[in-house]
Amino acid sequence: MVNIHLIRSNEYNLSRYWEVVCVLQAFDGPLTFISHEKEVDIDPEFLDEEVVGDKEFYETIPLANYSMADEMIDADLNISYKPKKLFKKPFKEKDVLKWKNIFKECDDFREQNSISSVDYVILLTERRNELNWFTGGSEKVNNLFVHTGYWDYFIDCNHQFPVAYECVSSVLRKMMFESKKELSHGLHEKSIGCMNDFCQEKEQIIFKLRTADICRKCVEIINEKGVERTITNQVLEVINGVRKQMLFSNGFSSSLELSKLNIVGTYSQKLLLPDYGNIEIKLTPLEKTLYLLYLNHPEGIAYHNLVDCKSEIKEIYSKLANTGEQAEIEERIEALINPLEGSAKEKISKIKQKFTNKLGAELAANYIIKGPRGDKKEIKLEREFVIYQ
Ligand SMILES: [Zn+2]
Repeated sequence: MVNIHLIRSNEYNLSRYWEVVCVLQAFDGPLTFISHEKEVDIDPEFLDEEVVGDKEFYETIPLANYSMADEMIDADLNISYKPKKLFKKPFKEKDVLKWKNIFKECDDFREQNSISSVDYVILLTERRNELNWFTGGSEKVNNLFVHTGYWDYFIDCNHQFPVAYECVSSVLRKMMFESKKELSHGLHEKSIGCMNDFCQEKEQIIFKLRTADICRKCVEIINEKGVERTITNQVLEVINGVRKQMLFSNGFSSSLELSKLNIVGTYSQKLLLPDYGNIEIKLTPLEKTLYLLYLNHPEGIAYHNLVDCKSEIKEIYSKLANTGEQAEIEERIEALINPLEGSAKEKISKIKQKFTNKLGAELAANYIIKGPRGDKKEIKLEREFVIYQ
């Protein structure tokens, strides 16, 4: 088990942060992603004016120009693709973070929260960093950062996909390369569609995200370093999931085949669509209660018959909702089964909206609860597609 703490700096919006956490937490394995809602206030002393790119380049594409994943900043080591050397007309940007200050924030977080030294800490930040890289790590401590901004200039997709990719791949890379020297030898200057490609051009980043692969040479290094197979498998699952979800959200998914629906866990169950890259449909406990109830009843239930399912509803809801007074729980259930209250109708409409947002109307139609007005409502999905884990 490896704990990875995801922290965010104050300018990074909480809902954007949750989008990334949600992608990463949908995959099981030894890498455990732990969310921390409380933001890290970057010390204003750390925000400096720095050279971050070429002026001309900035005027055309105002964004970070290196997607790569170098792990370390190093003034001594002669890395031929060191960004600053490539700038012809240096461009200065305000409020730029120095790498050592990013890692100082990670260290402070470790200290304040008594984080074990074997755990990883990843700071997610919208702020540019002095070398203008998307991700980097410190050499001695398991501290990493991922730059969350500007991805949409590069890739036509939601930011959580590349950011989740960088989070998970940067951890594996840290396990593979223990020193700056090893890292500089291990990265691929020429893109081959491997996680460790050094991508200078934007097309190459897309290549890496689309191939979602680790090359044979890197697999050898992973084996030499004794990284557990389950960890590598989880990384591959995440980056493959990211690839599928990206295609999906862009409407590029070639098939309209139905995905299985996994119901994971006993308490606070998750709804995951494994064949669509483990997309998670996030429902509130009451919405989930209703959804699981309808899954249990392929024959359908009309609103006015929900009252007959009261004990079943109660049983499901008590597993899902771990907060609230008993009286409050009773009240919510009463509202749900009373057709005059409109609570069930409202929940069903929310569920429809959530599936449709993720899958589009056509595919969502198979998963939502629906039926003619005044008549039985049901979920169309064949129950052999539903897997309880
Ligand atoms: Zn490789």
